[in-house]
Amino acid sequence: MKCTICGKEALIKLRHYNLKLCKDHFNEFIEGRVEKVIKKFKMFGRKNKVLVAVSGGKDSVSLWHILVKLNYNVEALFIKTAKDEIVQNTLEIVQKNAETLSSKLHVVDATEMFEGLSPQQIAFTLRRPVCSVCGVIRRYVMNKFAYENGFEVVATGHNLDDEAAVLLGNIIHWQEGYMERQWPYLPKTHEKLVPKAKPLVFNYEEDIRTYARLNGIPHVQEACPFSVGATSLMYKRLLRELEEEQPGVTLNFYLGFLRKKGEPRYVVEELRECEVCGYPTTATKCSICRLKEQLDKKMKKSPT
Ligand SMILES: [Zn+2]
Ligand SMILES: [Zn+2]
Repeated sequence: MKCTICGKEALIKLRHYNLKLCKDHFNEFIEGRVEKVIKKFKMFGRKNKVLVAVSGGKDSVSLWHILVKLNYNVEALFIKTAKDEIVQNTLEIVQKNAETLSSKLHVVDATEMFEGLSPQQIAFTLRRPVCSVCGVIRRYVMNKFAYENGFEVVATGHNLDDEAAVLLGNIIHWQEGYMERQWPYLPKTHEKLVPKAKPLVFNYEEDIRTYARLNGIPHVQEACPFSVGATSLMYKRLLRELEEEQPGVTLNFYLGFLRKKGEPRYVVEELRECEVCGYPTTATKCSICRLKEQLDKKMKKSPT
């Protein structure tokens, strides 16, 4: 098997692009697609302060490596959602990456907002899905940290499979409001809302996994234990099955959506400031302050 570009021994075969690549050209190809997304959606330039939200998984950690390699002005944020061994081990792996990259890593302990409670404990108390509680906490902390520390954009590791799965779910349930807001870059719509960017959206999950393995990038293997059975995983599985029969279908599906949509219209609901914490929300209180309130009520009812 020979590299389509240089003719040397190829290590990787990418069915979805009909390419065979050696290690160097594979890296160049993946990094080039990241650069392309950043430019195409005018996410940020080399002078902008970028905060990459790193969970420890292959996607966010690889994104961090790629942004450093591409000479972007990037620092990383790790959010501690619990005080357990899994989170501690993950943090150590993330710290190892910070050392190799000589890139600054910030760590925020999100449990402090809830007197030490983890998303799992909060979700259990309020009878809500862990993923939604965890998502609310992460989004809030990410934005607040970025805003308070002068970052101009927050980059996350969402890949093509993630975005295509969300899109498929939105289409199946005709969630047109969600589709309206689905875009690789969300600009500032409120003074305290830092723009969000997803520079990996043109890269298949499988390719990011290969990128991490090939370049010896330390990361945690397992997906979040609470995401098992999540509906987005079901859509991902369906897309992977389709991909087996029609290589490239996931990319075409997502690109078709972006093309059809053209320029996004940001008819986002009117944002105001949470009356408790002052951060942007569509309601009178933000989701975090509402979570706190609900928890307080529960605790008062059943003191343990
Ligand atoms: Zn080559
Ligand atoms: Zn609030």
